[in-house]
Amino acid sequence: GRVLLTGGNGFVGAHILEQLLAKGFQVRSVVRSQAKAEQVHSDHPNAGSKLDFFIVPDITTAGAFNEAVKSTPPFDTIIHTASPFLYSAANDNLDFLNPALLGTTEILKSTKSFAPEVKRVIITSSFAAVIDASVPEDAGKIYTSEDWNPVSWDEALTLDKAWAYRASKKFAEKAAWDFLRNEKPHFDLVTFNPPMVYGPLRHSVSKITDLNQSNARIWNLFINSSKDAELPPNGLYIFADVRDLAYAHVQAALLPEASNRRFIFSRSQVSSQEISDILRENLPELAERTPIGRPGTKSLHKGAYDADSTLVKDVLKIRFRSVESTFVDLAKQLLEFERQG
Ligand code: NDP
Repeated sequence: GRVLLTGGNGFVGAHILEQLLAKGFQVRSVVRSQAKAEQVHSDHPNAGSKLDFFIVPDITTAGAFNEAVKSTPPFDTIIHTASPFLYSAANDNLDFLNPALLGTTEILKSTKSFAPEVKRVIITSSFAAVIDASVPEDAGKIYTSEDWNPVSWDEALTLDKAWAYRASKKFAEKAAWDFLRNEKPHFDLVTFNPPMVYGPLRHSVSKITDLNQSNARIWNLFINSSKDAELPPNGLYIFADVRDLAYAHVQAALLPEASNRRFIFSRSQVSSQEISDILRENLPELAERTPIGRPGTKSLHKGAYDADSTLVKDVLKIRFRSVESTFVDLAKQLLEFERQG
């Protein structure tokens, strides 16, 4: 198969790229600059002619992807992961909203007009597009693919950056499903809605402060902290491993039965105490750095929300890896990176 992948230089995209190449797909990686293309090229040195590049400097411009989607042999699948998530890279709320929303609608429009052989578009949405902040924390809510974040565009513009990010994912994904309904294109759609995504990096970062948003949280609060620090708040306490999520994107490219599904992609709940316990038990070198909290008291509060990912297991045949492997593999990699300076 022939796949166009956006965001291949990012945390999630790099794992998808690796797994696509391993499965023998021919991939075009669409990135924002030549320098980023060269980085991806050097991160995947064995790809050879299986990997080519296209530069789209600004995914928000009209017709941004018109040329990128044209290819011989033609694409059968588009995987769109590119979307702003780094809070440090956004000056205002529109820096999240515009690239998320317009990036999505532009790639759909270009595909409809110029890539008639595409059978499926796969979009990395987020649990941010699903969670409803007005549901009480003890309501025992189990989120499913029927649920949508009710945030309004007005709130998206005026609330803080975290809200702008969540809203950007909601409006982008909603626009994709609306496009399907209204434009009746020749392709179908698959979306993924992962909550916090953690795990080792497959892309290169020049320094630890350049970590992607979700892994930076683990580094700052759990690895590069202190044993006496207060246990971090649980935050968004459901998660997925980046390697499992990448595998799911590849499965979605392969399996017809994924058609028009919205996959809530959560492995399980994980509390801050559990993350600390896992790191402290497996990595003695973190004895002074990882908050101790109250070891063994793993539970979240009563009625903590969860997500139903039955579809992921049934349709995509995914078996989630262990919670230990996600945090231990990430921590080992970051500590090694730190040692090498
Ligand atoms: P990264 O920040 O590592 O990657 C983001 C990717 O999107 C990069 O390739 C980046 O390219 C690209 N991108 C960001 N802003 C823009 C923009 N304005 N124009 C064009 N491209 C842009 O984050 P992740 O890998 O974690 O995120 C990938 C996807 O996964 C996103 O859609 C995100 O919303 C989603 N997701 C991630 C979760 C997580 O916990 N990590 C959870 C749920 C969903 P560049 O280097 O050029 O900026």
